[in-house]
Amino acid sequence: MTLHQPSRLIWDNHGCMPLRAGDGDFLPQLERYRAAGVSVAGLNIGFGPQSVEEHIRTLAWFRKWIKGRPDQYRLVGTADEIEAAVADGKLGVFFDIEGMGPLDGGDLGMVEMFYDLGVRWMLIAYNRETAVGSGCYDTEDGGLTAFGCEVLAEMKRVGMLVCCSHTGERTALETIAAADNPVILSHSNPKAVWDHTRNVSDAVIKAVAGSGGVVGVNGIGLFLGDNDNSTEAFVRHVDHVVQLVGPDHVGIGLDYVFDGQELKDYLTNMRDTFPNDPTYDQEMLFVEPERIPAIGVALHDRGYSQTDIDKIMGGNWLRVARQVWK
Ligand SMILES: [Zn+2]
Repeated sequence: MTLHQPSRLIWDNHGCMPLRAGDGDFLPQLERYRAAGVSVAGLNIGFGPQSVEEHIRTLAWFRKWIKGRPDQYRLVGTADEIEAAVADGKLGVFFDIEGMGPLDGGDLGMVEMFYDLGVRWMLIAYNRETAVGSGCYDTEDGGLTAFGCEVLAEMKRVGMLVCCSHTGERTALETIAAADNPVILSHSNPKAVWDHTRNVSDAVIKAVAGSGGVVGVNGIGLFLGDNDNSTEAFVRHVDHVVQLVGPDHVGIGLDYVFDGQELKDYLTNMRDTFPNDPTYDQEMLFVEPERIPAIGVALHDRGYSQTDIDKIMGGNWLRVARQVWK
């Protein structure tokens, strides 16, 4: 038996620190990524109906905090910067936005401004409709809008990745067809393994793979199974995507929430954003960053080659970043 070798590049494409500018209570937990061997982490800086100002205040705070700790962290915005951070043993951090809320006024210039500040992917609609398209909790999906087509062109121009997590099925398929770039699912699981509104059909997964994109498997127990945050459940979802579209289109997007109370408050106070879904009423369980090495071991035990494990652990995200980010 060959021993499992640790992957050189480990990339968690989506993590959730509290969205409170000035609050440094949780940010030191970025060390948990480093301790788990993670070399790149995407941090969310805003979602859904939050205001432009909220997005910018959180982004400014995260940037200041991370740049003040150059011995541990580095802001990364290109594939080359990621490789340099890995070589220097730093945790590379980039940012993401869940939704197109800041563009709702028709403000295309927001895309480049956020890109310049380190945001590297944005998703189309956080559960509910935006000016760009529909969310996965909308009862009717009106598809990608004409303004959405302009947004896709602007995202390609500046090098921002398009994501269809949280997005309605019709909107997602129309986005992937219209985008002249790889499209990702930053943190979404296959419905074929566990039927949840937030999970995606095999048709969407195939379309993402066909675009050259990557599906980031999500570590929230509600999306993996019956609040099942086991490593086995996570690997079952990875394996479904690999069997469907091959090992070049799967990655990790744990969606780990560091402040559980903040999440409970959002779920309680934003009933329009999380409508009529009783699954959110229970204590949510997560695959923690510490579990990432065990995921690699579990894939090895399933017979995955080291080459394929390296792709899933981060190589596939790096490939897409090299293709899209500028
Ligand atoms: Zn999300």
